[in-house]
Amino acid sequence: MTVWNLGSINVDLFYRLPHLPRPGETLPASSHQTGLGGKGANQSVAIARAGADVKHVGMIGADNAWVLDRLAGYGVDVSHVGRAQAATGHAIILVDEFGENSIVTFAGANYAQLVDRIEAALSQAAPGDILALQNEVSHIAEAARFARSKGMFVVYSAAPFKPKIASAMLPHVDLLVLNEIEAEQLAEALGMPVGEIPVANLLITLGARGAVWREQASGRVTEVAAFPVEVVDTTGAGDCFIGYVLAGLDQKLERVEALRLGAAAAALQVARSGTADAIPGRVAVETFLASQDATA
Ligand code: ADP
Repeated sequence: MTVWNLGSINVDLFYRLPHLPRPGETLPASSHQTGLGGKGANQSVAIARAGADVKHVGMIGADNAWVLDRLAGYGVDVSHVGRAQAATGHAIILVDEFGENSIVTFAGANYAQLVDRIEAALSQAAPGDILALQNEVSHIAEAARFARSKGMFVVYSAAPFKPKIASAMLPHVDLLVLNEIEAEQLAEALGMPVGEIPVANLLITLGARGAVWREQASGRVTEVAAFPVEVVDTTGAGDCFIGYVLAGLDQKLERVEALRLGAAAAALQVARSGTADAIPGRVAVETFLASQDATA
């Protein structure tokens, strides 16, 4: 099967600082790095690094051809990534010495996507293929509706979180992914408990406490613990986690095994600095899991 990912592609500009700047403060950075990022690209890289077939549907500007080479180098199919008359999306990521971050983003070409292009790409998908969506590109609702009409399994990470957009997406989604704070915010916006959010499946990530998958109708819960590691940079942990989980599901792993794979990949990722470029490969993740089993 294939995972299709309609998602953002960003250039990430990292600055390491002694602390996050206060208003009016000018701070010299101790180091700078340029990398591939964007929630969409991060998830695609994680899916590819996990060994699943992933086709990215996206847009970049006329510049920055290197980001496509980087994506393709990780094994992502980029034949559905187009060029727009806009700057490639980018993010300025400030990281302090504890791994905490502040991020400024500019959507640029990510918002130049066209419904026709999306439908032309997804018309090649097979029933049962997964469509992954996040909030950093345009036309996600149209894409979800079209994918559903083709019998695809639609997975929506409602981040960066906007309650209105998340609420409007609910009827078109099979699996909604939120972190704990976003789940509470969505429940509050809908005026109901988290357990009643109207979606078939809800995957809530809990940072260093792991994640929980709830089947909303039956109340069936599958939990996974996070692996304790020394944290360097938590940027992109959720994307690495969900990418690996989707790859595991696509490879027909049991739900709990797919979640464990995601937790292991994210643990390795937060122990490094960077986003897409810090996502570990499948062999490293399996080796880490085996080492955890050996010490358990
Ligand atoms: P987001 O980055 O979207 O807010 P989370 O912070 O909940 O998402 O992290 C996603 C997943 O990454 C978690 O479910 C967990 O498996 C892993 N993770 C996050 N932070 C840590 C940490 N400090 N130590 C180990 N694993 C972590």
